[in-house]
Parts: sequence; C-alpha cells; structure tokens
Amino acid sequence: MASLSLVNVCKTFKNGQVAVKDFNLDIKDQEFLILVGPSGCGKSTTLRMIAGLEEISSGELWIDGTLMNLTAPQKRDLSMVFQSYALYPHLTVYENMAFSLRVRNVMKTEIDKRVRNAADVLCISHLLDRKPHALSGGQKQRVAIGSAIVREPKAYLMDEPLSNLDAKLRTQMRVELSKIHKELGATIIYVTHDQVEAMTLGTRIVVMNSGVMLQAAEPKVLYQNPINKFVAGFIGSPS
Ligand code: ADP
Ligand code: MG
Repeated sequence: MASLSLVNVCKTFKNGQVAVKDFNLDIKDQEFLILVGPSGCGKSTTLRMIAGLEEISSGELWIDGTLMNLTAPQKRDLSMVFQSYALYPHLTVYENMAFSLRVRNVMKTEIDKRVRNAADVLCISHLLDRKPHALSGGQKQRVAIGSAIVREPKAYLMDEPLSNLDAKLRTQMRVELSKIHKELGATIIYVTHDQVEAMTLGTRIVVMNSGVMLQAAEPKVLYQNPINKFVAGFIGSPS
C-alpha cells in the first residue's frame, strides 16, 4: 500500500526562481499519475521534491501517513527512473539489477527470485548475462526499470523515462509500462511533456503550467471537460 500527499507544496530556488506554487495532490495506491505540461513548468522539480533530491521550500509531503519533508531520499522507499539509464558498465544485467539489494544485504535467494521475476515481467530474461554495451537503448531502459522493480518500492517516480528512445520503442515501452502497472499493482508518478504518453498511460493526469497545477482529472474527463483553453489546447480536446 502506498499513498502520497502533497499539501501546499512550494519551491523557490536560491536565485529567486519560483518553480512550484501551492501544489496540492493526493496520490492513491496503484494510481498511474501523470504530471504533464510544457518544458519548464515545474514537473521535474515536483518529482524531485517527492524523491527528496530537492528541498521543499514550504508545505508538506506525506507518505503513508508520515511527514517526509526532511527524510533522506534512500529512506523514503521510492524508486526513481530517469531518461538517462545509469547502468554499471562492468556489471552484467543480472548484477546491475541485483546491485541495490546486495548493498542492503538482502539474502541471495531473495535477490535471485526478485531479479528473475522482474526480468520475466520486462522480457529480458535472455539478457541477464550480458553487459550494458551489448544492449540496445530500449533494453538498457528495461534494465534500469528492472533495477527499480527489484527494490519493491512504495512508489515509482519516473521522469520522462522514454524520451531518449525512438518512436517505435517508445510505443513498445508504453505497453510495457502499462503491464508493469497492472501486474505489479504499482503506484507510479510519471512526468512527461508528451500528451499522447499522458493520455494513454495515465489513470489520472495533472496538467501544470508555470509552476501551478491547472487541473487533475482522469484522461476522459480532462479531454471532455478541460477547465480552460490552455488545458484544452495542451490535451488536444476540441474547444
Ligand atoms: P520541467 O521539468 O517541467 O521542464 P523544471 O521542474 O525542471 O521544469 O523547472 C521548473 C523551473 O525551475 C524552470 O523555470 C527552471 O528553469 C527552474 N529551475 C529548475 N532547477 C533549477 C535550479 N536548480 N535553480 C534555479 N532554477 C531552477
Ligand atoms: Mg523536466
């Protein structure tokens, strides 16, 4: 079970740049929540505050009923997936996926079970002995997602994880991400500037502009009842 809550969350950077203003959102267990909006609207900053990679200027972040504003990133029990896949070049796919569990002294049999399950879900079981240099971009991204899955986090935080892939692979990976969401019952907070990705993946979509949340709704509701012209234009609904 995972539930996250952001209450009046604001972020002002040291240079005075206001990146996020009064952000209020409850994220329910097993939601595939999309943060979407144009470049620079504050999506990554919002995600990084949830991850603990960026300090919250004011407001509250709650995870499963515990105030987390000052909790170290590694103690938040969240897995982050970025667009650039940070794999260890000298380790095999198996060892890459096992790495974070080894560091945490998880038992060998448990590590083996989790790595093989994740590889199975991601259809990379045949690649476990390979090193990253012998993988395609899409395969590397699967390994990166696999490394996140084995940690069995409360929630996944993904920042434009598919944006470095070509169009065909992006479509394939969208199917893969939907499968992960359903099969693992995962809670996912997913940042993208791509409307199609937002509309096809999200169980709920948050549209942002200039650091402000404009609307949070299910894809269908957003499409049929956009709150203003900006949302309508961005989502591509008839206005
Ligand atoms: P998005 O992910 O939606 O493209 P970001 O969250 O990265 O947007 O950025 C939101 C705003 O905050 C932008 O105006 C950006 O320039 C600014 N910003 C991001 N990081 C920093 C930083 N470390 N210092 C100052 N301003 C920043
Ligand atoms: Mg960003």
